[in-house]
Amino acid sequence: MLRLTELRLPIDHPPEALPAAIARRLGLLPAELVEFTVFKRGYDARKPERLSFIYTIDLAVKNEAAVLKKHAKDRNIGKAPDTSYHFVARAPEQLAARPVVVGFGPCGIFAALLLAQMGFRPIVLERGKAVRERTQDTWGLWRKHVLNPESNVQFGEGGAGTFSDGKLYSQIKDPRFLGRKVMAEFVKAGAPEEILYVSKPHIGTFRLVGMVEQMRAEIIALGGEVRFEQRVTGLDIVHGQVRGVQLSDGETIATEHVVLALGHSARDTFESLHAQGVFMEPKPFSVGFRIEHPQSLIDRARLGVHAGNPLLGAADYKLVHHAANGRAVYSFCMCPGGTVVAATSEPNRVVTNGMSQYSRNERNANAGLVVNVDPADYGGSQENPLAGIAFQRDLESRAFELGGGNYDAPAQLVGDFLAGRPSTALGSVEPSYKPGVKLTDLATALPPYAIEAMREALPAFGRQIKGFDMADAVLTGVETRTSSPLRITRGDDFQSLNIKGLYPAGEGAGYAGGILSAGVDGIKVAEALALAVVREQTQR
Ligand SMILES: Cc1cc2nc3c(=O)[nH]c(=O)nc-3n(C[C@H](O)[C@H](O)[C@H](O)COP(=O)(O)OP(=O)(O)OC[C@H]3O[C@@H](n4cnc5c(N)ncnc54)[C@H](O)[C@@H]3O)c2cc1C
Repeated sequence: MLRLTELRLPIDHPPEALPAAIARRLGLLPAELVEFTVFKRGYDARKPERLSFIYTIDLAVKNEAAVLKKHAKDRNIGKAPDTSYHFVARAPEQLAARPVVVGFGPCGIFAALLLAQMGFRPIVLERGKAVRERTQDTWGLWRKHVLNPESNVQFGEGGAGTFSDGKLYSQIKDPRFLGRKVMAEFVKAGAPEEILYVSKPHIGTFRLVGMVEQMRAEIIALGGEVRFEQRVTGLDIVHGQVRGVQLSDGETIATEHVVLALGHSARDTFESLHAQGVFMEPKPFSVGFRIEHPQSLIDRARLGVHAGNPLLGAADYKLVHHAANGRAVYSFCMCPGGTVVAATSEPNRVVTNGMSQYSRNERNANAGLVVNVDPADYGGSQENPLAGIAFQRDLESRAFELGGGNYDAPAQLVGDFLAGRPSTALGSVEPSYKPGVKLTDLATALPPYAIEAMREALPAFGRQIKGFDMADAVLTGVETRTSSPLRITRGDDFQSLNIKGLYPAGEGAGYAGGILSAGVDGIKVAEALALAVVREQTQR
């Protein structure tokens, strides 16, 4: 196969223009192009007036060697890399003990799937409910102000990413194309095929639900087991080696290999593992608000005359501002045409996040507008790795109070926030947060350095996206769970620094920040675990 990069065509080109352009670029007759697939399709929105699709194409030609020779000096034409996935191990005939995967978010799903595909018949333990029941519980908070602390946006089958925009891009280094394996499995489970090639793929909430069920079915068909409402409370550890996992109902499951894919909200589990001596350390994360604008404003600013073109969909943005007080303010988890959602997992706390459906056709664009915080800001240290959790809880409780104490979120218009006065009436932007918002003053919802940095950043963002700092845009608080406040550190063998057989993984352990990177980390950890089991059983 050959790969051709940087092939540009107008965004409204007819389908037949693509093979013709490929052949032309290679100097071939159309019949000499045997087949092609679009490996990637993106567009550069920096110059909306000259918008074109930029393709990366994998293709087969009749005489590959001749084409390569002819274009030897052309850096956009070369051999296509092998992006297919190759399993690293196969389970021994007799497994001494089955591996256990704790958590069934993207990381746990991929760890379990890969282990199952390699024949290791993993046991998955998930504290929340199966995805359909979980959906009802989640809507309970959004519609009726009722939180189920074990079944919500953070906990349950599919993990934190289930009720999301389902954005599937990441900036991780991926020399083995493991992200491709994640995408291929998602497509097998029902994701649209375009996620394999569009530059910023997303799935949306509705489809994610069905996909998660499909992946569970495959794990079970391959001999795995997936148990819901099974909260892990601790580990059996003997001489620094895992011997089992303890469940809240008193059961202990014997195992010597545990993938710990807890997500960033498993605060109780972090506390109990810390009490058991599992090594962990505090890490930086970010806190802030959600901001909502009319999607049409973002489309106009980003796509110019192409705003509203269905081929491009609702526009997104990514913004960063380095404030004079040393803080970085940046947009986080931007959801075009989406809604702001209540994302707490603990009673009497308010946390915001965002989600979209595949169509991304809601009226508002939303994104987190967050400011970085370091362990020094919240008193985190080696002796106190849980300090970030206390800091998050404090802000979330404060937001609950400011919101009126019934899971409504505190909100303020950008104009009022910049002027330092409480909001009393909404303007042209209708906030989408469910169950509802209470207009107030957000100045006390975050530490002063964060408020100061945001007040500086908003006008700066307004210069990049015209109208971003419009007076009627709505801020909703608080966004505290941007990533894990701690890391459960692992060594080169992917195992905990001080507990053998424990594989901390995914976002909760500090090794991922999104659906795709969590899935990739799940694969890496499953591979390391599989190789360790094979090695240990041969040595016995
Ligand atoms: C509303 C929302 C929207 C988002 N949108 C996007 C997006 O568009 N794109 C993107 O890339 N990322 C998005 N994210 C972030 C993304 O969801 C996470 O980065 C990702 O889910 C992390 O995967 P994970 O498997 O490491 O952890 P999680 O998905 O958090 O999964 C952890 C699982 O472990 C379970 N668990 C916790 N403790 C225990 C225990 N003691 N015993 C048993 N089970 C336990 C939990 O119930 C949970 O199901 C969003 C997050 C939210 C909340």
